[in-house]
Amino acid sequence: MGTELSYEELIGAAARMLRAGERNFALTGAGVSTESGIPDFRSPGTGLWHRFDPRQATLSAFRRDPAAFYERNLPRWENILDAEPNDAHRALARLEEMGLLTGVITQNIDGLHVKAGTRSLFEIHGHLRTCRCQACDQHLPFSQLVSRHRAGMKPPRCDCGGILRPDVVLFEDQMSPDFFRATQALAGCQVLLVAGTSLQVYPAAGLLDAARHVIIVNREPTPGDDRADLVIHGPAGRVLRDIVAACG
Ligand code: NAD
Repeated sequence: MGTELSYEELIGAAARMLRAGERNFALTGAGVSTESGIPDFRSPGTGLWHRFDPRQATLSAFRRDPAAFYERNLPRWENILDAEPNDAHRALARLEEMGLLTGVITQNIDGLHVKAGTRSLFEIHGHLRTCRCQACDQHLPFSQLVSRHRAGMKPPRCDCGGILRPDVVLFEDQMSPDFFRATQALAGCQVLLVAGTSLQVYPAAGLLDAARHVIIVNREPTPGDDRADLVIHGPAGRVLRDIVAACG
């Protein structure tokens, strides 16, 4: 269906679908944040995995050598902390404000949906606002982890001596409570607006099965396209902004 319609027709159809649905959610991935200067994982050429070995971000890498884990991963996370939301994040917050989205489920850890004002948010891979002590389970602001590391505490530790870990879901980690909350919230979902995700990371990609209708917004084809009612190719910021305008 998608390839036969013009861009304007696709935007109009997406807006109609959202207006008709009473329980709509968005599912976002790293692609909604590339326009804020945060590289995604898999985009050809610019994706982090062309420069970075994912085995460095596993739970076993952290357990084996936490100091080396932070040397490799902390610079990437510190860049994320300074980023600002873009039109994609703002458009999703606006759709929620207009009553056309019940919530946003994100795989991103960058916190940009929070900064953009989304209220009902499921951060299924965690976030970089806090960290926690592996020994006493105390939660501290992530800035404490960064400042202790900068002051030479490698790896950064809690006041009790335990090693601090970020509140993000690492490869090999259990899924977060937000993931289970999101799967429950999706019951009865009519439209899932999927933006900027390659749909290659499970179980997140499996969330499409919970929705009656799926709209995919991406720069490239994804494995979910065959299952989608509408596929809109383009930059997430522009496409989502145009959908908001068409819904208005
Ligand atoms: P991914 O890198 O696998 O896929 C990103 C997708 O977005 C690709 O299909 C790409 O074509 C598309 N894309 C990139 N820029 C776009 C744009 N401006 N407009 C439209 N589409 C665009 O990312 P993923 O599917 O989210 O999975 C990667 C995992 O990595 C996630 O679990 C996430 O937690 C993590 N991650 C998060 C961040 C972040 O927090 N910003 C950044 C990198 C990776």
